[in-house]
Amino acid sequence: MSLYINFQQGSLSGGGIQNGVKSFRRRLRINIHNSTVLGIGIVEEEVSYMANIIGCGASKFPLKYLGIPVGCNMSRCSNWNVIIQKFSSKLSAWKARLLSVGGRLSLIRSVLSSLPIYFMSIYLTPVAIRKKLESLRNKFFIGGDICERKMTWVKWDQCLASKKRRWSLNREYIWSQHRPSFQVGLEIFMQLLGSLDSSINGLKAKGIDLVSYCSRKIGNGADSSFWYDTWCDNQSLKVMFPRIYNLETVKDCSVASRLNLQDLTSVLRRHPRGEMESVQFDGLKAAIGNITLSEHRDSWYWSLGGTNGFSVASIRSLVDSHILNAGNEATYWNRSLPIKVNVFLWRLMLNRLPSRVNLDKRNIEVSSLLCPSCLDDLETVNHTFFNCEMAKDLWLLLAKWWDVDIPVCGNILKWYDWLPNVHISPKTRLGLEGVGGTLLWCIWNYRNSLIFSSSLPKKANIWDSIVAQSFLWVLSRNPNCNLSWIGWLKNPTYAMNSM
Ligand SMILES: [Zn+2]
Repeated sequence: MSLYINFQQGSLSGGGIQNGVKSFRRRLRINIHNSTVLGIGIVEEEVSYMANIIGCGASKFPLKYLGIPVGCNMSRCSNWNVIIQKFSSKLSAWKARLLSVGGRLSLIRSVLSSLPIYFMSIYLTPVAIRKKLESLRNKFFIGGDICERKMTWVKWDQCLASKKRRWSLNREYIWSQHRPSFQVGLEIFMQLLGSLDSSINGLKAKGIDLVSYCSRKIGNGADSSFWYDTWCDNQSLKVMFPRIYNLETVKDCSVASRLNLQDLTSVLRRHPRGEMESVQFDGLKAAIGNITLSEHRDSWYWSLGGTNGFSVASIRSLVDSHILNAGNEATYWNRSLPIKVNVFLWRLMLNRLPSRVNLDKRNIEVSSLLCPSCLDDLETVNHTFFNCEMAKDLWLLLAKWWDVDIPVCGNILKWYDWLPNVHISPKTRLGLEGVGGTLLWCIWNYRNSLIFSSSLPKKANIWDSIVAQSFLWVLSRNPNCNLSWIGWLKNPTYAMNSM
């Protein structure tokens, strides 16, 4: 809590202040040992003198108040070191190495994205700091140490875009948890517009005009400008009827002052004349003719948010769609599979897995470009997962087990295109898609063991691990289901339907 004492110069009388503070201590239970005295516009000696009288310490600017630095220039990057250090401490190398990509993504979304929001809600972040924080998040996501450089397979911008875009990863808007979905949120935003001029103009240069989404919702009409605010259509009346605006005598008049007029011509320099002025005058009368004022105050309306009103998420969605490079369709995301498998499938869709051919394309030296399983063809992503004999056998086994006619899919897109056309219930389709994802994941694990493990993995075990792993994942992600192991083995279609 802050106690603000105002006194005039030369009125320093120790006894009076001491008695005042004693009275406050009794009433407010101030812990004097945890308190400090801070002087504003007072020399240090006087602050120390006061602190001695009260019996607490003296402090000076810059200082930390509720974790926020106060009294220093926050447009200087050096003053943001606290945040950078906090970020770095949460991103220790061992966490990046021990967590799966799913764990790292969850940590980034739940913790690391929230850390700077407290600071950002008070100070405008310098661009260099924003870039630094993004770079730290990116390094952590790809599993690297802060000082270590690792290969980036997917651009960070693409990872950041909404999962609603097919080629993106971010499951939901991080800021949506913090959205103030109330009218007050927009009021604050509109008040901040002045101080955010450079940011707003910067966005406008990129084709994002945030101000155009704000319009006035008329209540009693007292606080809205008749000519300048956008309140009865998508444009201000000044833009819609410029000829009549020119004739207006009081240009910054309120909506109330004009709507309450019996005769609108009484506030014009002269009667409208000529065809253009008459047409505009009639248009103006028609535009405002049906509007009635109420007793409520005027407020802001955010057209982008729809019925939900203003939200930071709606702004972020708009900005992201302009800035981040992503497609228009949603990323495939199967809730029966762990995040790490979904991220793996997402990378497979993008052809961003470290297959031997992909490594070679990035000038990484590899001993051979052949598929380690069949040694018959180049190890491309499509060969490994769909065209290799071993993969084909596994897809056939899957078709037999689920009693569906899976065609030969040359790539993952064909698999995803085929899925909606198969005649099974949506729930079963979701299960089949999950098992397909598990199959691809197990092929990748087998391939990695073949290359990196000291003991040779058994090909015969892959199918067993697909069946067992998919059962465990479906079961653990649907805790209330009564899926039995025997039922899963015998007839997964029936077992999924009875869940
Ligand atoms: Zn092969």
